[in-house]
Amino acid sequence: MTAQMLIDGEWIASEGGGTFETIDPASGEVIELVPDATATDVDAAVAAAKAAFSSPEWAQMLPATRARLLWRIADLLEEHSEELARLETRDQGQPFGISSAISIPNAVEHFRYYAGWATKLHGVTVPLSIPGVDYRNRREPLGVCGLIMPWNFPLMIAAWKLAPALVTGNTVVMKPAEQTPLSTIRLAQLCMEAGVPRGVINVVTGGPAVGQAIVRHRDVAKISFTGSTEVGREIASEAGRRLARVSLELGGKAPSIITPEADIDAILEGNLMGGLLNCGQVCAAYTRFYVDHKRADEFAQKMGTIASGMKLGNGLEPTTQLGPLVSEDQLQRVDRYVSAGVAEGATLVTGGSRAGGELATGYFYQPTVFTNVTDSMTIAREEIFGPVLSVIPYEDPQELAGRANDTDYGLAAVIWSRDIGTANRLAHEINAGTVWINLPPFLDAAAPWGGMKASGVGREMGWEAILAYTDIKSIWTSLT
Ligand code: NAD
Repeated sequence: MTAQMLIDGEWIASEGGGTFETIDPASGEVIELVPDATATDVDAAVAAAKAAFSSPEWAQMLPATRARLLWRIADLLEEHSEELARLETRDQGQPFGISSAISIPNAVEHFRYYAGWATKLHGVTVPLSIPGVDYRNRREPLGVCGLIMPWNFPLMIAAWKLAPALVTGNTVVMKPAEQTPLSTIRLAQLCMEAGVPRGVINVVTGGPAVGQAIVRHRDVAKISFTGSTEVGREIASEAGRRLARVSLELGGKAPSIITPEADIDAILEGNLMGGLLNCGQVCAAYTRFYVDHKRADEFAQKMGTIASGMKLGNGLEPTTQLGPLVSEDQLQRVDRYVSAGVAEGATLVTGGSRAGGELATGYFYQPTVFTNVTDSMTIAREEIFGPVLSVIPYEDPQELAGRANDTDYGLAAVIWSRDIGTANRLAHEINAGTVWINLPPFLDAAAPWGGMKASGVGREMGWEAILAYTDIKSIWTSLT
């Protein structure tokens, strides 16, 4: 079977006829062929989005109608939630428990949350100190937005971008990651079924070259990108050259700070969930566990015991707790980091290799725990994006904030403490876009999400995303 792209309301093959394979990471088998878009396809998609942007049907859609449209998309996603969750699990690998309980419901909630904003996007009037002048401002959409997604939570991250882009009146060209295109294609089908006018949503599929063609296109007013910091830097410089708007949600290396008086047994589960959710392929994954040196080994052993007992398997099996990594490339990358950890002197507590036996044809990696990790080791500094947890002992709690901040990244952090003052002081001192206190990594459509430092530029979710997809216009009127 071959999937199709959506350009100007038509489901089509690539103009050049090229395709690529999307693979089931649990088995290594091809699921489907997907069109490999050309630069001509990207041009056509952008042209369709540009025409739709100023079409009366879209540009003059009443706010209440727009709200109903987004609500209808949410309803359709919900009606198809089981099918979508299975598709996401098949293409991405995440256990069905995650796709059905997190990925799809979170996408639905984004459309419902932003449906609510449709009727509330007002500007303000301001009393100027100039006689005889009335002043007001209004928020206006930007135009064609290029939405470029990663492979770790394909549908959910597409929804984080698409819902606020649509509610503010933009049109879009979406590009899912080449590893995981299927749920975005299905999302676009359901959007069309919901009644989104032709050309408002376009989907082009392919690899980095397709993303580059979107980023460089002079008619793309804004790029919203989620992916690696390396590609984010490249996109920022391209967008900077032509002064396109840009939002970047990039990598992370979240510290988990466990204060000396924390109840280690009570926090094991939250830490493991933070570290191993979606096999560690989470930008906010808890990866650097700072533990009092007197209890670091105990903590590492306890995490190792639970992690090594977790059931690895095909995400569609009900008993599976950990799925595969998304691709052979990603598995090899994780394995290189594990080898670096061993070579640089960290102590391997459990895991450290690819899973064998009946799992050998898929991209399964044993959950891996290291202890005696130091701040300078590669596994403590670089984003691994796999099931690798590093326990870093500390002696002086006063150094915790400084050590946690000694990283290029600043996406997220978690603090585990029974002392409310200490926890909140640390929350102020940590340089991260999100700090959780005594929680696994929760997200909500209403809470702004994004990174400081090399973890990104701008925020998704909440009112911040409305700002990210609009410009403000001042209108001055002479009263004389
Ligand atoms: P990636 O940067 O390799 O690719 C992301 C997307 O960009 C893909 O669609 C890819 O085809 C496209 N792309 C690649 N090169 C491009 C270029 N030069 N120009 C335009 N587009 C290009 O990232 P990935 O490996 O798919 O995703 C993993 C990364 O995403 C991790 O670093 C992770 O931390 C990050 N991530 C961040 C968040 C967040 O909210 N901050 C969420 C999820 C993932």
